[in-house]
Amino acid sequence: DTQKTKFDYQSDVTRLRKIVINSLYSHRDVWLRELISNSNDALEKFRLTSLTKKGFGNDDPLNITVKAIRDEDEKGGKIIITDTGIGMSKDELAANLGTLAKSGTTEFLNRAENADTTTGTGNLIGAFGVGFYSSFLVADRVYVASRPPRSKEIPEPEQWVFSSSSDESSFEIYPDPRGATLGQGTEITLIMKPDAVKYLSTNVLTELIDKHSAFSSTFPIYLFTQKTEEVPVEEDEPTKEPETVSEPEKENIIDLDDDEALIEDVPTEEEEKPEELVVPKTKTITVDEWVHANSHPPIWTRDPKDVTEVEYLDFYRSTFKDYRKPIGWHHFSGDAAGTSFKGIIFLPEKIEDAHWQQTGPLEQKDIRLMVKHVFITSEFGSDRLPKWASWVRVIIDADDLPLNVSRETLQSSKFIKQMKGIILRHLLILFNRLATDDLEKWALVTKHYGMIFKFGAVEDTKNRDRLINLVRFETTQRQNITLDQYVENKRKGQSQIFYMADSGKTTEQIKRSVFVEKLEARGYEVLLFTEPLDEVLVNTLRKHKKLPFQDVAKAGLKFGDEDGEEEDSKEAQKKLEEKFKPLIEWLKEETKDVVRDVVISNRLVTSACAVVAEALGYTANVERLMNA
Ligand code: ADP
Ligand code: MG
Repeated sequence: DTQKTKFDYQSDVTRLRKIVINSLYSHRDVWLRELISNSNDALEKFRLTSLTKKGFGNDDPLNITVKAIRDEDEKGGKIIITDTGIGMSKDELAANLGTLAKSGTTEFLNRAENADTTTGTGNLIGAFGVGFYSSFLVADRVYVASRPPRSKEIPEPEQWVFSSSSDESSFEIYPDPRGATLGQGTEITLIMKPDAVKYLSTNVLTELIDKHSAFSSTFPIYLFTQKTEEVPVEEDEPTKEPETVSEPEKENIIDLDDDEALIEDVPTEEEEKPEELVVPKTKTITVDEWVHANSHPPIWTRDPKDVTEVEYLDFYRSTFKDYRKPIGWHHFSGDAAGTSFKGIIFLPEKIEDAHWQQTGPLEQKDIRLMVKHVFITSEFGSDRLPKWASWVRVIIDADDLPLNVSRETLQSSKFIKQMKGIILRHLLILFNRLATDDLEKWALVTKHYGMIFKFGAVEDTKNRDRLINLVRFETTQRQNITLDQYVENKRKGQSQIFYMADSGKTTEQIKRSVFVEKLEARGYEVLLFTEPLDEVLVNTLRKHKKLPFQDVAKAGLKFGDEDGEEEDSKEAQKKLEEKFKPLIEWLKEETKDVVRDVVISNRLVTSACAVVAEALGYTANVERLMNA
């Protein structure tokens, strides 16, 4: 006890733990998936570090074990979750489990504390995930014993314990009194709350892993189970009471998918067949097994026809730690540089604002490149995705790249070089599929990704044409049309694509603009731009299907149907100018400080007057954009 150090939780942790303990009761199942996902992260960190760091760690198999132990009085019990991952030093235990480093946590806390009902908070947990502290949903006390892998610098790492109870605002850290029982990794012992004893049942745990954690780990999860079995009694062996076999070896593993892999922890002496036919005596014994609980093949390796929507959603949530439903996904396979691969692309509900706030090369942390089911890297070096697509969530699993290939070699490999183009192509396939097959989802795509298509068409010359096809515009006559559709609808003789841009206004307001009136009256369709990006886009494209874009608020406007009208109108114009000379002179004088000129116009149909930009000047809209 003298070695125990007591620490106070950081204040946010205290707040979070309170919320977790008090109001997430109806979502308490999440504790297991959170702990398993932490173990998986720790195993992944270890494996990646060991690829480049010589003499790091031992050769223990990388896995997660879950074991429930009931108290003798059957009233309570504990659950022990162990992994052979990166582990935590004394300082890391305090830092990682005693403070909150997660971005968005403060937002979660504010919203959760203001939510008045438990269901309100329940939805929030779906959106954020609460990590390690979810253990206090089911445990009165939690012990975390941890030991980092051995390294050149520290050949014999110490094993320390973090301990905390659900009703204290402090935790303790001390050297494990048992010594270094772990080769490497972390062992979490939950002393279950009296009302959470149902989790001590193997069936409940199996179901939970199956339902919520099947995809939380790419490393094997072994669940400790005990079964009673009838086995024959040897002739000269005295019949015994049921017995419990002591701590099983980890090799005694049953693969649920493969009956032949059944190796049980039963005595394996050759059974001697009695000569005469006698009814064999049997006895009941308890058999301990470690059952491989997540032995299903990864979903991306399966036939898309056999994967259910729930499986895709679970997989998405646990892989990308995004608790919101993706809009859609696309499951594909192919070949790159002679290596076959399988992959799934997910379209997140929306792109985080934070994504756009990054400066410099964007992080593409959600592109997970695996080799034979093992995560290798998210970084493609110079072959990273363009900005417009770098938010995409995708998993690619290659069949036969060398597993120990260094990141540097991989980044310059032909496989990676081709991967960028392949991912973009499949992303565009997904968008096009949603555009044609699923109007409801396509509406969401337009809402949350409309800007991406425009941005991409400006940025990515290689995919420009395909991206342009995804951009939808509203016009004076129609909604959700492509530029192709605009051009198909052009009037005889029309030689320009007309648009009116006024960002910050609604399309309804733009439609009422005097500049649009005359074109409407003559039956021309006008694109209505409400975002500054629209104008940037047409300035980049300049033309579509050979027709130049024309801002209807600027000079240069040509109608296709004015042949023959010209002479007449020149005459008429002259007459009008004569007639209204006094008015024009007066207006010029009155407005000389604010406008450059006052002229008789033939642009207007029902409006009395309009203020227009100079032919070579900026439109009001671009002026606003420049200011921004
Ligand atoms: P998150 O996983 O989102 O970072 P958690 O609350 O789940 O948040 O975990 C907090 C931190 O504690 C992790 O980031 C990790 O550093 C550490 N941690 C938790 N569980 C383990 C584990 N089994 N092995 C090693 N480190 C762990
Ligand atoms: Mg976590």
